[in-house]
Amino acid sequence: MINSISDRFTDVYDGISGLASEQGIGFDDITLVAVSKRQDERKIVSALDFGHRVFGENKIQDTALKWPALKLRYTGVKLHLIGPLQTNKVKDALILFDVIHTLDRPKLALKLKNAIDELEVSPTFYIQLNTGEEEQKSGIIPSEANDFINYCVHDLSLPITGLMCIPPANEPPAPHFALLKKYAKNHHLPFLSMGMSNDYDTAILLGATTLRLGTALFGERDN
Ligand SMILES: *Cc1c(COP(=O)(O)O)cnc(C)c1O
Repeated sequence: MINSISDRFTDVYDGISGLASEQGIGFDDITLVAVSKRQDERKIVSALDFGHRVFGENKIQDTALKWPALKLRYTGVKLHLIGPLQTNKVKDALILFDVIHTLDRPKLALKLKNAIDELEVSPTFYIQLNTGEEEQKSGIIPSEANDFINYCVHDLSLPITGLMCIPPANEPPAPHFALLKKYAKNHHLPFLSMGMSNDYDTAILLGATTLRLGTALFGERDN
C-alpha cells in the first residue's frame, strides 16, 4: 500500500504534466489538491513522505482531528476546505485552512470578513458556483453570481482568487467548466478550481488551475 501511494502520485503528476504541456503551461502552474477526506492516515503519511504538501478536506471536525499533528511533523502543508461551510464554523475553518473553495452566500461572506479581521489570518477564497443549479448542491446559482462576486470582491474586499464548481454527476462536465471560466474571466479572477478524478483531463483542457483529486491519488474512500 505504501508504495502504491507513491506510484499513484507519480502517475497523476506525470498525467498532469503531459496535459499541462499540451496547454502550453507547466506542472507548477497547476495546484493539485490531494483530497484526503475519509482516507486512511497511513496513506496520507505516504503522500507527505512522497513530498506532496497540498491537501483538501471537506469537514472541519475530521480536519481538526487529523491535521494539527501531521502539520507538526511535516512543514509547508497547505490545507484547502472543499466542503460546505456553516457560519458557526467560520473561525475554526480560518484557523485550520489556508484556502476555502466553498464561499457561496452573503451571510457566510460577511462572517468570513469579520472573522478575518478579528483573527488576523490571511486566507484566500474561491466562490463556488452551482453551475448545474442542483437543489441538493451548494454554490451560488449563475443568475445571482455576478452580484455575489461583486459583493465579495468590491463591497467586502475579500481575498477572492477564483471560482469553483462541481458539475452534476450525470452530465458531461465541459459546459460547466466553460461556464465557470466565463464568469472568472468577466470578473478578472485568475484561478479555476475544477476537475476531479474522473474529469480532470477535460478540466485542464478548459483552463483549470486547481484540481481536486481524491480517488485517483488515494484509491477508494472509507465510509
Ligand atoms: C470528494 C471531493 C473531491 C474528490 O473527488 P474524487 O472523485 O475522489 O477525485 C473533489 N471535490 C470535492 C468538492 C469533493 O467533495
